[in-house]
Amino acid sequence: MDINSLLGAPKACECGKTHGCDIKSVVIEKNAVAKIPELAKGYKGVLLVADRNTYRVCGKDVEALGIHKDIFVFEEEGLVIPNEKAWGEIQSRVTDEIDLIIGIGSGVIQDLCKYVSFLCKIDYFIVATAPSMDGYASVGAAMIANDMKVTFSAHVPKAIIADTEVLKDAPMEMIVAGYGDIIGKYSCLNDWKLSALVNGEYFCQSVYDLMMSAVKAVRPLSKKLLERDGEAVGALMEALVVAGIAMSLVGNSRPASGSEHHLSHYFEITGILENAGYFPHGIDVAYSTVITERLREELLAIKELPASWEFDREKWENNIRALYHRAADGVIALQDKMGWYQKDYLSIYREKWAEICAVLSEVPASKELEELFSEVGLTMDKFYAMYGEKKVNDAVMYAKDLKDRYSVLWLYDLIKEAN
Ligand SMILES: [Zn+2]
Ligand SMILES: [Zn+2]
Repeated sequence: MDINSLLGAPKACECGKTHGCDIKSVVIEKNAVAKIPELAKGYKGVLLVADRNTYRVCGKDVEALGIHKDIFVFEEEGLVIPNEKAWGEIQSRVTDEIDLIIGIGSGVIQDLCKYVSFLCKIDYFIVATAPSMDGYASVGAAMIANDMKVTFSAHVPKAIIADTEVLKDAPMEMIVAGYGDIIGKYSCLNDWKLSALVNGEYFCQSVYDLMMSAVKAVRPLSKKLLERDGEAVGALMEALVVAGIAMSLVGNSRPASGSEHHLSHYFEITGILENAGYFPHGIDVAYSTVITERLREELLAIKELPASWEFDREKWENNIRALYHRAADGVIALQDKMGWYQKDYLSIYREKWAEICAVLSEVPASKELEELFSEVGLTMDKFYAMYGEKKVNDAVMYAKDLKDRYSVLWLYDLIKEAN
């Protein structure tokens, strides 16, 4: 896939929108770091940002290029938390002389550099150190503010640089997480189609196809990824970047995040609220993809739709308060604003049930997904050992309430609650 053909000025699309992406260059190859001086030409003051680990694996090579004015390496050994303190530290290094931040890292470093460069209204590049998540090319910066997980809307990098020699040596758990995040797109792409059918939500076939072809390219690579094959790791990175670009093209997260992500966010948020454990993002997404596919299969087996349905506000609100603790008010306010509990979805389901079933049946079977994930060491018993039945069931019923996005979780909730 030629990623660079997706970049640049907006082009008209059959879906009625024009799609553009502000990223100027994506370089995923052996020795990609050598391309940085050329890409950074024209900038007057470069600030490099890394943490101790990413400095060791790649930052020192970027430093050796000698193109920077300043370098900031987080002092803490171990994970940096992307909170007010961390972004304040970077921001304090952005003097009048700095017009480009080059972040070296994956999740946290790229979120921080994305956000600070946005606040300071300057450009940033990201030098990726792990193919672990799909945020590289997206506008969202996942941060912790007031101890809560929030996603700030920021901007995309001007360049994404990924050296396959660095990526392939990333911790295996991060590579597996990236694989999970990509295979999970089967679920979110299906939710997008479902929402277009049920809610008349905007849908773009060509962005859908773009994402799906990247998923299909990555799907057979599990064995090669475990062997740290450079080409396979490069293909995974490409798919992760494509996911970010796909989000930029349509202007929302639909092509890359659906019910499987909502479940993963539920595990993460309740983990933070309850001080309980949770898996790295892409690994939660992988397990959750199996779960949401089981829901689709359960729905497909239904012989008859319920005769009626009524929203039990009191029960719902009590459960939201019990599960979301101090975040409950925000969740309730969001759903009051959305008004989907008041909408007559049952009539829509009746009218379109055959088409709905046709959409639901497009995702690979849950058994097939389980097999794919077990090839990279992710088995469902590990998932249940972490969360237990109850938490998984709670996620299935209440993760959707965190979001303003329709998905199979809404369909499943109505059918379950009515029966
Ligand atoms: Zn389109
Ligand atoms: Zn993800």
